[in-house]
Parts: sequence; C-alpha cells; structure tokens
Amino acid sequence: MLQVKHLKASVSDDSGNTPILRGIDFYVKAGEFHLILGVNGSGKSTFGKVLLGSSQYQQIDGSIKFLGEEISEKPTFERSQMGIFLSHQSAPALEGISAKEVLRASDKASAHKRTLFRFKKSLKESLSASGLSENFIDRDLNVGASGGERKKMEIASLLTIGAKLAFLDEIDSGLDVDALKMVSAGINTFSKNKENAVILVSHSETILKYVKPTHVHVFCGGRIVASGGMELAEKIHEEGYASVQDCEACIKNI
Ligand code: ADP
Ligand code: MG
Repeated sequence: MLQVKHLKASVSDDSGNTPILRGIDFYVKAGEFHLILGVNGSGKSTFGKVLLGSSQYQQIDGSIKFLGEEISEKPTFERSQMGIFLSHQSAPALEGISAKEVLRASDKASAHKRTLFRFKKSLKESLSASGLSENFIDRDLNVGASGGERKKMEIASLLTIGAKLAFLDEIDSGLDVDALKMVSAGINTFSKNKENAVILVSHSETILKYVKPTHVHVFCGGRIVASGGMELAEKIHEEGYASVQDCEACIKNI
C-alpha cells in the first residue's frame, strides 16, 4: 500500500532549509498496523505531514508510492482523495459550518463518493463506532468541543470518508479512559477491514491495551533506528530509549 524510499525532507523557513527527515524507508501492506515511537523532536509528526504533502516542508530526496503510484508531486487534496488520512493533533474549530456538512463535502470530494442514502448509513455507523452523538455533528465543527470530542470527530471522519491508510498522530493524548476506549474501538473498526492500514504515533502505553500493532518503529534524528514487533515497544516502555538506540549519536546527528 505505501512504499517510502529514502525520504528526505526539510523545513522551508527564512533561514534556508533545515533538514528534518534524513532518509526514511517505510513499507506498509494492507492489513498492517504500524506503531511509531521516538523521543520528542525525532520527526514523527513531520513524517505524517510530508506523506500528505504539507507545504511547510520540502521533499528533497526519495520517493513516496501509494497504491503503486508516485505521489511526491501530488497536492495534499489528491493524496487525501486517494485514501490517505492524517488526524489533527489539535483539530481546529470552524464557525458557520457543521461537522456533518464537512463530512458530506469530504465524502463528495473523495474517490469513493457515495449516494446520500449510503453516506447517511455510513455516517450513522461511524458515529456509533466513535461514540459521537448526532447532536454533536449538527453543531458547528468542533466549536466549544472538548479535546475528547475533537479526537472522536477525527475518528468519525476517518470512518466516514472511506480512507485506506490512517496516520494517527497522538490521537490518544489527553483522553480520559472512557474516551480512549471509544477512540480505540473506532481505530479497531477501521483496521478490522484488512484492505486498510494504520500508522499510529503514540507515547503512551495505555492505548496498547486496546489496539494491537503488528509492527513497531523507533524514530531518532529523522531516521528509523530500530524496527521490530511489540517486544520492541515493551522494551522501550520498560527500559527507555537508550536500550535500543545510541541517543547521544542520534542527537549529534540532529
Ligand atoms: P516529533 O513529532 O517526533 O516530536 P516533529 O516532527 O514535530 O517531531 O519535529 C521534528 C523536528 O523538526 C523538531 O526539532 C522540530 O522543531 C522541527 N520542526 C518540525 N516542523 C517545523 C517547522 N514547521 N518549522 C521549524 N521546525 C520544525
Ligand atoms: Mg509530534
């Protein structure tokens, strides 16, 4: 589904270009669930944004193929239409447009646009899977919404618009245990479909009680410094990052 080869990206700012991603190789097949770990500032969020073609960054080397097609030159909306979804770390509020209208517009613009009847059915299922009420999505998008409601709204969007690859960046941060269970159930509903795949960035062990990644990667200094199965995550949670990487060398690289 996703083939990222030797991806290098830098931030476009006034001081010229600061490299952030320094050669990422990352492969995801349909049905897989990848967990990304890594110290703060190691490039995890940048990776998600570069996958979606954020204008904040310049891809300076490497390739990104999604469903067999090179997407490096494609604008964000086309990558999204092809089925890549990036959750917001702090989703914005928009006055004057309801959450339902945003979801319907996203569905209409997607490659898998549904009839109104099928959209409504999918919306109903997504709301029940993410724990949001009909009342919430009739309100202006995220206006006055709690952190938990915003995260649930991200999951409802993921499920409604029929994405194939979900990049979920700290979707569990700041959630109480009930909201965390609901968001996890939504992620599991998505990943139950073996045509889909998930990339989850998380610092917390708690979400791993409810979702089951198949692959684990550790980012450091804009590179992947270790990959494995859940035993890698367990080692890091018990013994810290220094147990799987030479932190000083990584930091020097930054
Ligand atoms: P992580 O998600 O692993 O905590 P990030 O991808 O957010 O890390 O950031 C990686 C590094 O790139 C950090 O040092 C961060 O300050 C820098 N960075 C990311 N985005 C920008 C930006 N838009 N402008 C300047 N620096 C940035
Ligand atoms: Mg981040």
